[in-house]
Amino acid sequence: MKFGTKTIHAGQEADPSTGAIMTPIYQTSTYKQASPGDFKGYEYSRTGNPTRTALENNLASLENGKYGLCFGSGLASIDAIIKLLKPGDEVISTNDLYGGTYRIFNSIFETYGIKFHFVGMEETSKIEELINNNTKMLWAETPTNPMLNIIDIESLGEISKNHNLIFVVDNTFATPYLQRPLDLGANIVMHSLTKYMGGHSDVVMGAAICKDDELAQKLYHIQNSCGAVPGPMDSFLVLRGIKTLHLRMQRHCENGKEIAHFLKNHPKVDKVFWPGFESHHNHEIAKKQMEDFGGMVSFTLVGNKLEQALKLVSNTHYFTLAESLGGVESLIGHPASMTHAAIPKLEREKTGVIDTLIRLSVGVEDVEDLVSDLEKALNLI
Ligand SMILES: *Cc1c(COP(=O)(O)O)cnc(C)c1O
Repeated sequence: MKFGTKTIHAGQEADPSTGAIMTPIYQTSTYKQASPGDFKGYEYSRTGNPTRTALENNLASLENGKYGLCFGSGLASIDAIIKLLKPGDEVISTNDLYGGTYRIFNSIFETYGIKFHFVGMEETSKIEELINNNTKMLWAETPTNPMLNIIDIESLGEISKNHNLIFVVDNTFATPYLQRPLDLGANIVMHSLTKYMGGHSDVVMGAAICKDDELAQKLYHIQNSCGAVPGPMDSFLVLRGIKTLHLRMQRHCENGKEIAHFLKNHPKVDKVFWPGFESHHNHEIAKKQMEDFGGMVSFTLVGNKLEQALKLVSNTHYFTLAESLGGVESLIGHPASMTHAAIPKLEREKTGVIDTLIRLSVGVEDVEDLVSDLEKALNLI
């Protein structure tokens, strides 16, 4: 099955009892047993629910994995993955990381005795320097948020194989439409399904996908024992969203490209961060591991005046000022005062999050309207 067919069919069959084409929402917590222990594969909905199973199998197929496991949010899936570790273990992670991931690592799991190192993963020598006998996991996010750096998944896969580490890739920004980390040496792919996968800004959910039987067994044990599972209605919504993933991503990429070029040529815009530019410092890696360059675009303003950035993000119409990303509608964000506000100014500026950095999640509207929306707001500053 090819990708666009998988999005619609993988994990799903017409309902055998009624012929319903859409996977039913099995809104039930428990299942009848004919005699004790004699049941039809489902006994209790924390352990398993048929709507969730359809979604989990669909995700496994899209990522070229064998097992998919869904959780109540992206962070709940991160929580489950880190619970594969024990006190004393060490994780080496990207430094340019989703804020919530940084928070759960640093403020929750550090207190359980797990140690996290944050490094720029573009230079692999920096990773090797940190590896010791306690290192158990590599954690990468690519493209990164909000600077859109690209990390070479294949070379990290080699390092993790040589040192027997569990290599996790947060594939939220790219989605399996653009890149499939399990094919490039990752052991676990993690998603916030809240973003592009669900795609309609109406659900919060997460997932972990892998190929290895033993790893999957451990993750199932954690999923069932800790219990952060999504409900059947939300599973249905994500399953429905995924049916158009390939169409949406195609348009996100086309629109992202148009917007990136428009911004690059605008006199009030200083730098534009988008991995599709040949001048992007990781363009070659992006070309190698991604099918296209995605719909996330970040930029800064000439003069770097905070008031101008705040005025710009408050004066767009179709680009709504909000956190999150990946929905059909375009969003605009100001990392320094929103997602990265908790990080001290000097710290955030080291990774490029300066006062006029603006992040766009380019939606699937008609691009002419999006360009004129930005143009009008830029004219006001
Ligand atoms: C949103 C996000 C998460 C967290 O997911 P939630 O569904 O919000 O819990 C993790 N990683 C990335 C890259 C994200 O964008």
